[in-house]
Amino acid sequence: MSEMVSLTGIVLSCIPVGEYDNRIVILTKERGKICAFAKGARKMHSHLMGLTRPFLMGRFDLYEGREAYTLAGGESREYFEELSKDLNAVYYGFYFLEIADYYGREGIEAKNMLNLLYVSFKALTDERLKKELVKCVFELKAMMINGEYPETFCCVGCKTKDELRYFSVSRGGVLCETCAKSVHDAAMISSDVLYTLQYVISAKLESLYSFTLDDATMQGFENIMKLLRKTNFDKHFKSLDVLEIMKI
Ligand SMILES: [Zn+2]
Repeated sequence: MSEMVSLTGIVLSCIPVGEYDNRIVILTKERGKICAFAKGARKMHSHLMGLTRPFLMGRFDLYEGREAYTLAGGESREYFEELSKDLNAVYYGFYFLEIADYYGREGIEAKNMLNLLYVSFKALTDERLKKELVKCVFELKAMMINGEYPETFCCVGCKTKDELRYFSVSRGGVLCETCAKSVHDAAMISSDVLYTLQYVISAKLESLYSFTLDDATMQGFENIMKLLRKTNFDKHFKSLDVLEIMKI
């Protein structure tokens, strides 16, 4: 038997396997995204049952196998109970887990992504914040953590920092008026939307969700995130479909 390792992480997904087992995917701080089998987790009174729930954050004690890990035990630290009570928020939460799964890789530590999930789950239960705003902020910050984000502090054409009034997805960032003239998909953005993008990209996680937006700025921010999603995600997120349906 291999040596046991203790990893800190969040359960991204859980599917039943066989009669009593669960297969879980955990995003861990130390080893990135890993897959583990929880044998007998669906048996009554199994000590593993509580550790295999999506959203659960905690310590996982695992044996490393050739193909996957085997969960031996652990300790839950946070259930995000408030989140699970709000059906609307839960769907947003599942979407965040799906994005974390999309970006997660085995062997690449995921401390920043875990911290982002933590503050974002908390933000989803904050009644002062619109969930659409939390979603857009999460998407942009997740892209940033994984190295895929637009230039928002200077023109991608000439590097000027003044009069940045246009945004182009194909060029990967903001543009001044002169440079925008030769870019086919350059669209005007307001200074409030520009500031929002700059804020989310540069803010520390603990102050990421410390603002709200008026309707017009929110709409502009959403439009840009829609374009960035198309460019950056080469995967169809099932949970995003559910969110779209819920909005109708
Ligand atoms: Zn320029």
